[in-house]
Amino acid sequence: MLYVSCFMLLKKILTKASKEGWAVGHFNVSNLELLKAVVEAAKESQSPVMIGTSEGEREWLGVKNMVALIKVYRQDWPHIFLNADHTKNINVAFDAIEAGYDSVHFDGSSLSISENIRQTREVVERARNKNINMSVEGELGYLKGESQLSNQKIKINPADYTDPEAAAEFAERTGVNRLAIAIGNIHGINLDEPRLDFDRLRKIREAVSENVALVLHAGSGIPDADIKRAIESGISNIHISTELRVLFKQGLEQSLKSNPGEYALYKLEKEVVRSVQDLIRQKLRLFGSVGRV
Ligand SMILES: [Zn+2]
Repeated sequence: MLYVSCFMLLKKILTKASKEGWAVGHFNVSNLELLKAVVEAAKESQSPVMIGTSEGEREWLGVKNMVALIKVYRQDWPHIFLNADHTKNINVAFDAIEAGYDSVHFDGSSLSISENIRQTREVVERARNKNINMSVEGELGYLKGESQLSNQKIKINPADYTDPEAAAEFAERTGVNRLAIAIGNIHGINLDEPRLDFDRLRKIREAVSENVALVLHAGSGIPDADIKRAIESGISNIHISTELRVLFKQGLEQSLKSNPGEYALYKLEKEVVRSVQDLIRQKLRLFGSVGRV
């Protein structure tokens, strides 16, 4: 298929999303199959996407390998951006910057606010020195849970939510391009559906500079209507990980069970990748990002 397209920087795309009322999808990958599913879905949907690798996922895949893979996949669909998701160690953040990631998420949310500001600022400086167009995400507020299915009830305390005034100060003092906030979202799919504090979200959006995109982590398990409301209230970047992991694992179990005599691994994985790809396409539609580049 021939398409006319012009490459846009991630920060420009996020500003456009925020002005037009849609969100850029961020999907975590831990193997080539998931990466393939994200890129294919983005291309089919003509959507920009972020590809996330957590510290653990990076250790498994290798930062240089990921940068090289993204470079190759970009020949097929240029609007993909590689993010070093939830980087808690500053030196690990520097490794991703040096390897050529497009974006780094420094997660200093467990530090004191002054230490979080200090380290995030350092990451921002290092990133800009490497590449002026690199996008940096900071995090403020305490996000609970892990990216997995859990039959536990996770109790969340509104005292852990992001404070609007503190968010504005954090964004200004660190110079981040994106800010991850805690408004009732919980990593993973848990027993209770998360209840988002939309009022707080709107206050954060009003307080923080419009040049800073607000990021909703832990998008898995949040009902579609609440995702739409979150976008209307100022979210312009949404992270999905658990739903992809769960679908991939369940699909693979099913495929292994139905094809006991098959040993060509790619044949066993074809349908699994297809189903993950379909889920990502649904998410991109939900986020309103179809045909935006
Ligand atoms: Zn997250």
